[in-house]
Parts: sequence; structure tokens; C-alpha cells
Amino acid sequence: ILAPVNYSRVMLKISGEALMGDQGYGLHPPTVARIASEVKRVQDMGVEICMVIGGGNIFRGLQGSAQGMERATADYMGMLATVMNALAMQAALEAENIHTRVISAIRMDEVAEPYIRRRAVRHLEKKRVCIFAAGTGNPYFTTDTAATLRANEMNCEAIFKGTKVDGVYDRDPKKFPDAKRYEDVTYDEVLQKHLGVMDASAIALARDNDLPIIVFSLDEPGGFKAILEGQGTYTRVH
Ligand code: UDP
Repeated sequence: ILAPVNYSRVMLKISGEALMGDQGYGLHPPTVARIASEVKRVQDMGVEICMVIGGGNIFRGLQGSAQGMERATADYMGMLATVMNALAMQAALEAENIHTRVISAIRMDEVAEPYIRRRAVRHLEKKRVCIFAAGTGNPYFTTDTAATLRANEMNCEAIFKGTKVDGVYDRDPKKFPDAKRYEDVTYDEVLQKHLGVMDASAIALARDNDLPIIVFSLDEPGGFKAILEGQGTYTRVH
């Protein structure tokens, strides 16, 4: 483990499922509010925050194409799902008095700002949380790739991937109690061993730009802040 970094700008990536609580589908407002409060603690530290939220709690492209829909069409539906999640998170952040912008990769000017890189940077400098919605705007990609792309464009120091477990394990810790957690792991090891941190294109994009990925548990209250301060358990992919 390297010395703790004083982060000034970070990307928080969460899956759509993180917003559904114990329900099997959709949005669970108390869970969205809880995640917003985690973001607030970090914003109070003065850290500039980017967010990407998946759409899997509403619609996944692969699921649509498995039902016979054209893959690209299904993927566009998935991207629209991420916009709904982004708006829900924006509302929850605003309830915490955090200025927030939803920035969409697919133009829908009445609902969200279009993505203009310099404008997004300016929002961050003004300490507004930027939620990047609609993924990369392209089918055949995932929101993990979108998070990595935007983190690079925004010069984030790391991607924080909030999950249900406190890091990357050699096998599923919910099924195997003796699963071993990695403290540090290389991008190539993640790819070779199929460790399931993020999809392969996202890992490769992070590797090629030396962007560390920090995998931590979002279920731990105060966990996001603690990780930024170098405490708690997590895995660093670098
Ligand atoms: N998606 C896409 N291009 C992107 C990002 C997302 O086509 O750049 C679509 C894709 O169909 C994906 C869906 O949006 O299944 C939801 O995103 P993802 O599966 O990454 O969400 P998560 O698993 O993080 O909830």
C-alpha cells in the first residue's frame, strides 16, 4: 500500500443496483439519500467530485438484446436509464444543499446539460458535483468505461468504485468465506484472472492512463470519506 494521497478531484462510480436497496428493481429513495450523504461528507473535505451511475437497476442492454431487441437499441435504453438515476441522485444531493449538474452524453437539453469538457471542469472548480449521465453516448460500452473516460478527461486522481464488498477478492466472498482480499493488484492481474473489478475495456483504459481504481464498500457508513483519508479496507488496482 502506498502512502495516502491528498485527493483533490475524484470519480465515484456506482452501479445502478446500488440505488435499489433491497428491492429487486428501480430506485429506493432512502438508499439514494444515504449515498448522497456519503458524497456530502467528502464534499465537505473540499474534494471535487465526479460521479457516474450505472443503469442496471432499470435496464441493461444485454438483457434487452437477449430478448430479441437489436443490441444498439437496447443499449440506448440502458443509457437512458442512467439519466433517470442521475436525476434521482441530483435531487438527493440538492436536498443536502450540494450544487449538482447532470451532464449527459446524449443531448436532451431540457433535462440535462450537454457534455462540454471545459464547462464540466469549470463546474468542478466551483465545487459543483458533476454527474455524468448516458454513459459514453455509444452502444457496446458500459458505464465503467464511461467513468474511466470521464475520470481521464477531468484529470481525476483515481476512480472510487463503490461496491457491496470492501475490495477485490480472489473469489466471491459472499459465497466463499475463505476468499482472500487483495490489498494491491495490477491491472494486468485483474485482466488475466478475470477478477471482475470492471469490464476489460475500462481496465485497459485506466491502465493506459495510469489511473488507479480503488474498490471499496459503499455499505459502510462514512466509508467513502474514510477511504479518501487512507483508512478502512479497500483494494487498489494500479
Ligand atoms: N450503456 C451503453 N453505453 C455506455 C454506457 C452504458 O450502451 O457508454 C448501456 C448498456 O446497455 C448498459 C446500460 O447502459 O447495459 C447500463 O449501464 P451498466 O450496465 O454499465 O450499468 P451498471 O451495471 O453499472 O448498473
